[in-house]
Amino acid sequence: MDDGGDDIQALIGAMARLPGLGPRSARRIVLSLIGRKPGQMAQLSALMARVAENARPCTRCGNVSDQDICAICTDVSRQTGEICVVENVADLWALERGRAFRGRYHVLGGTLSALDDIGPDDLGIPRLLARIETESVTEVILALNATIEGQTTAHYIADALPARLTITGLAQGVPIGGELDYLDDGTITAALRARRRL
Ligand code: ZN
Repeated sequence: MDDGGDDIQALIGAMARLPGLGPRSARRIVLSLIGRKPGQMAQLSALMARVAENARPCTRCGNVSDQDICAICTDVSRQTGEICVVENVADLWALERGRAFRGRYHVLGGTLSALDDIGPDDLGIPRLLARIETESVTEVILALNATIEGQTTAHYIADALPARLTITGLAQGVPIGGELDYLDDGTITAALRARRRL
């Protein structure tokens, strides 16, 4: 191709591999960035470099943050008595978009899997059990995906939690095998509001 320098083509190629983008969108984005006021692209690249340098899991809940403890965990206006357990950060962000939940989260980072050798320790389940005590938790919402792996993990956690807790799961409205991140905000909010005891 002779429609740009090597770096420009490499940038387009790298962007085209990002989720949700393809070669066509990547070309459009790169062309538009180059065409904008000088400084905008430099600003974006400086921001990306800072995020790359500082992004790390919150040591308490596993959310992605540029601090040791994320903004949700440090927000004193959020209820400490409720923890919502999710599989990944995308699911946490999906629930936050719905603005229906005012407690805190615990990100597992996956589901139990004998096949892939993923056990309770890999998912921070002992850390979750410790939080139940230190944060005076009264309700745990298991907002795991309605896949077989998600439900197996939910049952495992429900069995491991102290009996005094209220344990709930998302209500109907979450399609089987549906991943939270793909649901619209209204559906997530409805499923959370109508949560049922497990
Ligand atoms: Zn956190």
